[in-house]
Order: sequence, then C-alpha cells, then structure tokens
Amino acid sequence: MKISVIGSGFVGLSTGVGFAKKENDVILVDNDREKVNKINDGVCPFYEPELEDELVEQLYLGKIKATDDLQYAVLNSDISFICVPTPFGKKGIDLSYIEKVSKDLGMVLKDKNAYHIVVVKSTVVPETTERIVLPLLERFSGKSFGNYFGLCVNPEFLREGSALNDFLNPDRIVIGGIDEKSIDALKRLYKNFNSPIIVTDWRTAEMIKYVSNAFLATKISFANEIGNICKKLDIDTYEVMDAVGLDHRICREFLNAGIGFGGSCFPKDLSALIVKSESLRYEPKLLKEVLEINKKQPLRMVELLKERLGDLKDKTVAVLGLSFKPNTSDIRDAPSLKIVDSLLKRGCKVKAYDPKAMDDFKKMFPNITYCRNPRDALNGSDACLILTEWDEFKSLRDTDFGVMKNRLIIEGRRVLKGVKGCEGICW
Ligand code: NAD
Repeated sequence: MKISVIGSGFVGLSTGVGFAKKENDVILVDNDREKVNKINDGVCPFYEPELEDELVEQLYLGKIKATDDLQYAVLNSDISFICVPTPFGKKGIDLSYIEKVSKDLGMVLKDKNAYHIVVVKSTVVPETTERIVLPLLERFSGKSFGNYFGLCVNPEFLREGSALNDFLNPDRIVIGGIDEKSIDALKRLYKNFNSPIIVTDWRTAEMIKYVSNAFLATKISFANEIGNICKKLDIDTYEVMDAVGLDHRICREFLNAGIGFGGSCFPKDLSALIVKSESLRYEPKLLKEVLEINKKQPLRMVELLKERLGDLKDKTVAVLGLSFKPNTSDIRDAPSLKIVDSLLKRGCKVKAYDPKAMDDFKKMFPNITYCRNPRDALNGSDACLILTEWDEFKSLRDTDFGVMKNRLIIEGRRVLKGVKGCEGICW
C-alpha cells in the first residue's frame, strides 16, 4: 500500500519504518525541515535501538522518504496516519496539533479525486475523532465522510527503547471505525502482522489506549506504595512482588518499585483522562492518587539522601541515569528532572552521567557537571543516586565505587548486585 505518515517523531518514524519493512511505500511528513533532512540522510533524530539501521535499509531500498510537503504526500498515498503530538495543556489534552493536521488534510483532500483514508494514531481522548477530526475534515475538504474519504482510529502501544520491535510485534492491533471500506483496508495493511486484530468503534478504540496506560501507571504507583511500606518493615519488596507476580491474574510486569514513571505518555495521558472524566462530572479519585503518589516518589529519594547524609549543602552527588527509562534519549517528564532540581535547590553539586540523554538534559540544566563515564561521576562524590536501569550500570562492580569520597549509594531503580553501602528507595 502507499502510506503517508504525518508527524515523524518516536511514533511516526517507527510506524513509517515498520510499514516500509512490511513492503509498503511510505512517505513521512514533518513540518520540522531539519528532521526531514536528517531522516532522508539516514539519521534518526533521537536515539532508538535498531530504528536507524532499518531506516537506512529502507531508504536504500527506496521504500521510504521524508518531506515537509503534506500535499505531495497525501496525493501520492492512499492512507495517511496522523502521528502528531497530543501534549497535556493548561485545560487538558492540547488538541491544537490534531486540529491543524485535520484542517490541512481536509484542504488537500478537496483536490484529491480518489478515496483516501485518514487514520488517527496519536493518542486522543474519547470523542476527539468524531467531534473534532471528522467535522474539520468534512468542512475543509467540502466532502462527506464515507463516500470520499474514510476515517479510523488506530492507537499505538509501542514503548520507547523497543519501538520498532513493538510496532512490528504488538500484543494487539486496535482498529476503531464505522465504515467497512476503511476498516477492511486497515485489516489488509496489518494482515501479515502476527497479532490479534480488534475492530471496534472510534471512541472505544480511543479509550482502549487510555485504559492501557492508566492501568500500567496504576500498577507502578501500587508497587511504589507497597515498596514504601516494605522499606519501613525491612521487607524486600522485590521478593514480595516476585511471589505475588506469579499469580497469572496479577502478572509480574510493572511491579518494580522505584522512583516512579515518567516519559511522554503515562503522566500526560493519565492527566488527560482525569480532566476528561471531570468534564463528564465524574471524579476519578483512584487515577488522581496514582498521579499523586508518582509526583512524590522521586522526591523521596532526596529525602532519603538527606536522612543518610545530613545537610546537603555543598555535597557532591553523582547522578547515574537521566533518561526516563533505559535505551532511549527521552527525558520528557523523567524523574531525574525533579531530583536534580531538588538537589540543586538544596545546594548540592551534581555530577551527572547518562549514555544517551545528556545532550537533551544540558538544555534544561546547563550548569551541572556532565561526565564521560560513571567512574568520572563517582570520583570524589559524597553520594551516588542511580535513576535509570541502563545495562551499563548493571555491570558496575563494588570496586568501581571505591573512587567515591563517601560510599553512599541509593538506587531509584534496582540495578546493582553485590555492592556494599548500597540501598534502594523502597528496599
Ligand atoms: P514526537 O513529539 O516525538 O513527534 C511528533 C512529530 O510531529 C514531531 O516530529 C513534530 O515536528 C511533528 N509535527 C507536529 N505538527 C506537525 C504538523 N502539523 N505536520 C507535520 N508534522 C508535525 O511525539 P511522539 O512521541 O511520536 O507522539 C505522537 C503521538 O503518539 C502522541 O499522541 C503520543 O501520545 C502518542 N504515543 C506516543 C508513544 C511514545 O512512546 N512516544 C507511544 C504511543 C503513543
């Protein structure tokens, strides 16, 4: 099939490269010219394992290209995936990017004679497709839905750090739609993916994405609450969760206590669902508490440091890990932002190291010391905080910490084995 993907960020680029690998012809669209040039040069604009190699391969095969010309992309494809951001704004989800693309798409569809399918892949709160995307497409194209164009919702569940693999091997594919023609086209597009396909209506598809993220976030906050209790009782919360997670109704995934969730999805999607619920005059108490626990969890790390070290003024703290999770350069809503900010406010000197996220972190915190490796960060430090479970940190040995001035190591993620003077935020 001929596909255009509008928005070439984490989701758009992974989607485009994934569909190209599945033998489709893909045109990526982005309004950031620099990003378009990088992609056409075979450079992934962010760190994501395997994505760049596959992008280079698909560029070589001529299956993918990038442009900032939406009209060209839509006129030369049969189906367009919308993958633009849906950040959390002041009053809930910010749909301005979705609105702009819907209008622009409508204007292009006005001049297109062939049937075209629009697919909303961005995460949007229930009712967005029927109340915002559809009316804008109809108004700006002057054409009616069903006859001249189709419209589906196809939420994306990939995880940063394993984006391409997740896109190609999803646990399920959700297609929300009401017209058979576009639903059938999407089913054909996904037919050689080895995953169950669920067909439903627009708003149910939109809700499935929110409920998935809300539930995973709830598991994390639950694990952190239990972890906080276990710590006071001197019980190893990981041992508890290993046993609890063997119950197939519960499952061990997402029960690792630590400094909480971050990233571009869980916090903003949970917040958007809360605002949506309130607009329907329902107070989602549980969801609010999930966010509240998560807000406090990173700062517990600084409180623990203060308990162990006393006054933090002028203390040198090595921070290992800045990205919100391993295998990504993404620091959006990362717990490290709150922790480093709090350390600086208390007068600490921060020496940070991350394998991939330092360039982005520097833009927000230009005045801390960035190190070339973990050893540089540890050298002469009064304490070490581990904030991301990068494999590189898993291989740190007891002797590596010998260069510290004072051996106090606090893990926000459980990575170390056999290191003396080490304790966890919840263990
Ligand atoms: P992103 O910020 O990485 O990428 C969005 C891209 O859209 C950017 O490159 C931006 O330049 C481009 N863009 C914005 N407006 C545009 C326009 N009018 N025309 C063309 N390009 C435009 O965002 P992302 O992380 O890929 O997220 C996209 C959507 O997917 C969001 O709704 C998000 O919630 C959802 N999602 C994200 C993830 C994830 O892990 N990042 C996973 C599942 C779903």
